[in-house]
Amino acid sequence: MGRIGERGDTLTTICWFRRDLRVADNPALTAAAAAGPVVALFVVDEVLRGQGAATRWRMEGALEALAADLATRGGALVVRTGDAAEVVAQVAAEVHADEVHANDWPEPSRIASDRRVATRLTGDGRRLILHCGHLLVPPHEIRTGSGGVYKVYTPFARAVRRHGVPAPLPVPKLDWAGPPASDPLPDMAADMNRGADVLARHAPPAGEAAALKRLDAFLGRTEGYTQRDRPDRPDATSGLSDALAVGEVSPRTIWAAAERHLHDPARAQAAEKFLAELTWRDFAWHLLTEWPTLPVKEWRPEFAAFPFRRDKADETAWTRAVTGEPLVDAGLREMFVTGRMHNRVRLAVASYLTKHLLIDWRVGLDWFADALIDWDPASNAMNWQWVAGSGPDASPYFRVFNPATQAAKFDPKGDYRRRWLWGWDGSDSDDARDYFEAVPRSWGMESGDGYPDAPVVDLAQGRRRALDALATMRQAQPDVDADSDAEE
Ligand SMILES: Cc1cc2nc3c(=O)[nH]c(=O)nc-3n(C[C@H](O)[C@H](O)[C@H](O)COP(=O)(O)OP(=O)(O)OC[C@H]3O[C@@H](n4cnc5c(N)ncnc54)[C@H](O)[C@@H]3O)c2cc1C
Repeated sequence: MGRIGERGDTLTTICWFRRDLRVADNPALTAAAAAGPVVALFVVDEVLRGQGAATRWRMEGALEALAADLATRGGALVVRTGDAAEVVAQVAAEVHADEVHANDWPEPSRIASDRRVATRLTGDGRRLILHCGHLLVPPHEIRTGSGGVYKVYTPFARAVRRHGVPAPLPVPKLDWAGPPASDPLPDMAADMNRGADVLARHAPPAGEAAALKRLDAFLGRTEGYTQRDRPDRPDATSGLSDALAVGEVSPRTIWAAAERHLHDPARAQAAEKFLAELTWRDFAWHLLTEWPTLPVKEWRPEFAAFPFRRDKADETAWTRAVTGEPLVDAGLREMFVTGRMHNRVRLAVASYLTKHLLIDWRVGLDWFADALIDWDPASNAMNWQWVAGSGPDASPYFRVFNPATQAAKFDPKGDYRRRWLWGWDGSDSDDARDYFEAVPRSWGMESGDGYPDAPVVDLAQGRRRALDALATMRQAQPDVDADSDAEE
């Protein structure tokens, strides 16, 4: 028997799914299930429509999988399109829900939207209740001894360990309310055109079950994580970032599973490193929560005066992956074809844009946001500012990654570059050819064109120009720390 409202109706509870498209360790779903018969809702709203094409495409797969999963559990996913405040209030009225439960996703546009939804529901005598289901630990629970915010990763990570990561919640027992009418799931990435067909061939299968299978498979080979910097060994890392980005698996589930390996001497070192990487994700959200402008504004104010170049030709060469710098182009092509890019290559690609080409990090951040299926606003912003030297706990700007040295070290036989660069070193790989099918026709690129034989910038000259730009910024602001040049 459910709860009865003032007008004698049986009250229901809404679980409003957002980037938490799973049933296990889903605090909002668990709380909704505990309160009464549940209506599962997803809203194609203004926040989602403002996100990049590849992440919307990835969401669509995750939603289809969630809808199928809920159906096997006797439920139904109700999809509605429109302004979040209007839609949620409307559905709540239709199903006599007094509470709407959702997992927090503390990104600025979602926070603003949630405020409007909460105000609208309160006006109707209902409540929006937010839960922390996106992170290992809620950001406000990790504070320095003096109550401040951690700006440096290592003490933050230590504080997370001291705090402890809560155990994941099991799938709750679900009692469903009769669902209201649902819109058909819209084509959320119609703007991708033919790129979507290529992604469909290369992206991993969507859905919670598939994500848990991927986690299991990774845990069977954790010791290989010591090779995580090798893009020519794609199985060395977990490949879970896109599942985390749409919430098919929770970080706490991953943490609990990997933590068990800490007791196995053969795997402990690799598991420790893996947990540390997962903690970087929390750190990024910790920073974004405190500094909501992280994706748009340099965290270190002195970088506002950094003399970035506006060079459309170089920018186009970078976005179209024809810079002539093989590791950089291979990474950008991998991203266009698969929606992902190896972390070591992301570092090289980002460093090349902001240093050798001297182009603003926001150009790269936006490009990644549109092309990554694992787009995460906090990780993307923190990492771009890390590479550009303008972020908290960032790599100093003078640390210029040399893409040729990086390639020799981390892709020694060229396997990664041959996989993604048609025509480079005799490559005729199918994956490399797929790039030309994925790019817009308006770019006029054909695989027969081969690979550029000259780079857009000489590496030594590009590096020197970048360090001169840094010196110019420092001259304008002499109180900024000066360090020695370094290269890796
Ligand atoms: C310029 C730049 C932009 C990036 N943009 C994103 C982004 O939009 N979305 C995203 O998920 N990651 C981003 N990263 C971080 C990192 O490249 C990816 O998380 C990683 O490549 C995902 O592969 P994996 O799942 O196999 O990682 P694994 O090595 O298996 O790590 C496990 C998980 O830890 C987290 N993680 C690992 N490295 C980092 C890191 N450096 N920062 C934050 N979290 C990390 C991810 O959630 C990852 O899935 C970016 C890195 C750079 C340098």
